[in-house]
Amino acid sequence: MSDGPNPRSKWSKYSIDGDSLVRKGEFCPVCGPGVFLGIHNDRKVCGKCGYNSNDEEE
Ligand SMILES: [Zn+2]
Repeated sequence: MSDGPNPRSKWSKYSIDGDSLVRKGEFCPVCGPGVFLGIHNDRKVCGKCGYNSNDEEE
C-alpha cells in the first residue's frame, strides 16, 4: 500500500461509497479518540456531547 510519498495520504481514511464521500474514523474533537461522530449528508455530529461540524475539508 506504501508507494512513496503520497500527498493524499489523509484520504486513506476516506472511501468512496457510490458517488458519496464516506468519512471513516472521524473522532469527536471534544470527546477525543474513541468517540465517533455520526456522519450525516455533509456534516458530523457527536451523539455524546452534541458537537457538530459541517466543514468541508476539500
Ligand atoms: Zn463529542
